[in-house]
Amino acid sequence: MPNRPNPRAFRYHRGDFAPRPVRLEHMEISLGFFDDRVEGVNTLAFTARKALDELRLDAAADLRVRAVEWIPPGPAQPVPPSPEPGAPLAFETRPSEAALLVRLPRRLEQGERFAVRTHTTCFPSETVLEGIYRDTTPPGCPPQYMSQCEQWGFQRILPVIDDCTAKCTMRTTLEGDARYTHLISNGDVCRDTNPDGLPVAVPGAPGRRRITYVNDIPMAPYLFIACAGTWDAVTDEVVYPSGRRVRLAYLVPPGRAAGADLPMRILKEAVLWQGRTQAYEYAREVYRTICMERSNWGGMENVGNTTIVTSAALVDEYTHDRRLEYAHGVIVHEFEHNQCGSDVTMETPFDMWLNEAFTVDVERQFMAERFDADRVRLAEVDAMRAPVHGPLAVEDAGHLGNIVREGFNSPDELVDGVTYVKAAEVIRMLRLILGPEVFRRGKNLYFERYGGGNANTGQFFACFEEVSGRDLAQFRREWLHTIGYPRIEAAHAYDEATRTLIVDLRQSRAGKGGLFHAPVEIAVVDEQGRDIPGASRVLELVDGGPRGGSAAHVRAAFHDVPRSAFLSLNRNCSFYGAFSDASATAADLIRRIHLDPSLFGRVEAMRTLTDLERVRLIHDPEAPVGNAWLRTMGDVIRNDALPPGLKAYLLSIDEASLDRRYLPCYRERYAARGRLLRTAAEAHWDALVAAFRATDTYRPAAEPAEGIEERRLKAALLRILVETDTPQARQLAEEHFRAAWNITDRLSALSCINLTGSPAREALLEDAYGAWKHHVAAYAGYLSVIAGRPRDEVFDMIAREESRATFDIRHPEHSRALYLPMGANNRMLWTDRGIAWLADTVARLAPINENTANRLLACFQHARQLADDLRPKVLAALERLSGAVSETDSPSVAGRVRAALSRQAD
Ligand SMILES: [Zn+2]
Repeated sequence: MPNRPNPRAFRYHRGDFAPRPVRLEHMEISLGFFDDRVEGVNTLAFTARKALDELRLDAAADLRVRAVEWIPPGPAQPVPPSPEPGAPLAFETRPSEAALLVRLPRRLEQGERFAVRTHTTCFPSETVLEGIYRDTTPPGCPPQYMSQCEQWGFQRILPVIDDCTAKCTMRTTLEGDARYTHLISNGDVCRDTNPDGLPVAVPGAPGRRRITYVNDIPMAPYLFIACAGTWDAVTDEVVYPSGRRVRLAYLVPPGRAAGADLPMRILKEAVLWQGRTQAYEYAREVYRTICMERSNWGGMENVGNTTIVTSAALVDEYTHDRRLEYAHGVIVHEFEHNQCGSDVTMETPFDMWLNEAFTVDVERQFMAERFDADRVRLAEVDAMRAPVHGPLAVEDAGHLGNIVREGFNSPDELVDGVTYVKAAEVIRMLRLILGPEVFRRGKNLYFERYGGGNANTGQFFACFEEVSGRDLAQFRREWLHTIGYPRIEAAHAYDEATRTLIVDLRQSRAGKGGLFHAPVEIAVVDEQGRDIPGASRVLELVDGGPRGGSAAHVRAAFHDVPRSAFLSLNRNCSFYGAFSDASATAADLIRRIHLDPSLFGRVEAMRTLTDLERVRLIHDPEAPVGNAWLRTMGDVIRNDALPPGLKAYLLSIDEASLDRRYLPCYRERYAARGRLLRTAAEAHWDALVAAFRATDTYRPAAEPAEGIEERRLKAALLRILVETDTPQARQLAEEHFRAAWNITDRLSALSCINLTGSPAREALLEDAYGAWKHHVAAYAGYLSVIAGRPRDEVFDMIAREESRATFDIRHPEHSRALYLPMGANNRMLWTDRGIAWLADTVARLAPINENTANRLLACFQHARQLADDLRPKVLAALERLSGAVSETDSPSVAGRVRAALSRQAD
């Protein structure tokens, strides 16, 4: 059963999202952009769902309400409402409730249609990146205004029913300085007012222009966009096999059109791929991608007007490989939201996971086709296990992790690893359990049944139960409503007499609740490294499952397999949680490293082998490093036949351990990794240097993605070498930095140099600063290198960057890049100065950007599980923080501080 919510722990609960007494039908919007404000007039047409005397609208505390009018019924009431002036209405604003109460002129009966008009002013901010806000203005241009309405940004622009179910039609007129190149909103341009599709002069207002958009497909307010800015436009077109044409536009910062070349190609490919694989066609005339600079998110779907941060939207010489991959993912992700989110919309924020989980699943399929599928899966699993922000780590802290939340303090909290990573894994498991064909029928049913409307979690699962005939109650209950994850342990034995391999899987769990319905994919592999035909299957741990067994234990027997066969277990990480194989010896693991046909399985076996060493070193830092591990590292380093991407993964020694019990041992894990890297470097120096030199990343590439695997490998090899901090290692890193043309190489070389005592270090960092400070993405790369220095001076280095004219703490990309890597710097974070730094920085950031402050604060989420000497220091820092963070101004950070201090996790 779900844990009982503590009624005071959250500001919002599911009960707060009851249907409103009015249904919003249509909005007639007019917005005027000025240098210091945006003036709004909104005529809202409603139908009363019940009798009412008063109308309650959502309106942000800082929205200034000038007047409210009653609009007498016109001939075609409610749409469009009469444009005539109305009668003034009495109103009251309640800032603490973000509400506007309007006294109606008479009692309205159920079913009655009516309209009110509001006159308001909003004042766009540089730090509250919601509603209409100030983005970076190109030189010499009028102020650049961007908007972000998910979740509750609309009510910062205009009073509204700011609810996912308030899907209504809109007609939006934007007016602004004639120098703006674009005034953008949702829908198609109204040809009556703007015959050429372009803004027209405003009579009596020289220097101003306006444009009207008609949005006649009902849309939830969170998808609204209203922006005014200066961009260069890159246009193209895509034609579906059906013949339907969609115009595509990229709005890019002035002078940066070339950066849209590759993204436009990816977009065209993504639109057709999505049409082919998801049976969907985009229904509007134009699909725009709009570059924005300041945002807490990578992108936002605004029905036909996707906003993407410039650093991910454009690809140029400053785009490093991770951003390049992200650029692919975000394009297909936001496009998929046209179907999942905009067409079928979540019913409440508690169902938001549905929008995202399914969309991420589609994004992942695209990425697996576009890049190396094994490496894409490895990256997904890395995201799941990430030591601070990964959902497993969040669940280990014990406060958060249920996909369907008990409540929240700010809707931004729903945009996290639980929604984007855990929930996507749940969709993946659902497909594994049902099989791809049944899954496809279930999701088609869902989109058919709820197209144009709203859907909730129960309705989503009902579609899959209907098409499969299976009971998914256990699956839903544990995966969606509890905090924690399964721990599945395998044991196996071979019976010589019957030539049978017996596998037992046993489940226990982390966190409170029952056992999970979990799929585990296994295969039996022969000694040549080939799957034995007929010996691959998905075992289900489920009570009353189709093949017997229970959620606690399931057994499988593989008959007539040779003695030399071995198991490839939990293939491609088939379930979300922790897996271990109690029967695996080091020899078994080494066999898998070399022979498992699943590349994921090879990496997982290497990590398991490394974990044996790591855990020994955590318990005894002086223990010798095992020969079997060292020999295997040498074999991998010398094996030139391995694909470079796989080899990079095999040689990347993480700080995190697969055994999740060691997660709070930050300092010990850091030290153990250093020992392993150093030992490997010393034992295999010549082979490492030879492999490093043989990996050529210097030849020019025709496509940005070319050489991505080689760059990864070169970085992994260099990382091992520099752990020695010898003059030779420093020289290799410095030469690499100077010789490299690709920014990924330059960043990985620079971060290696920054780990060392190289006398050239400061000059090289300064070179990089000079070259990158004017480009947001490159500058962010530089800042994150700075924060990685594992020595005392890192705090002064961070302070110095903060004091430079280029740094703006209010710029989300700057603050994320400088502060979050310091949160991962386990060598320095867990010192007295590091703990104080984190608490001070969270306190400073909370009023500026709660989102980044929360991500930084997550470093303290395991406060109560820390070592005896650290725990009191971190708890004392959290106590200080609870006094310093305002419940009113930063409710979300204040809530997280309370959670970290609570004893719930004990
Ligand atoms: Zn999304």
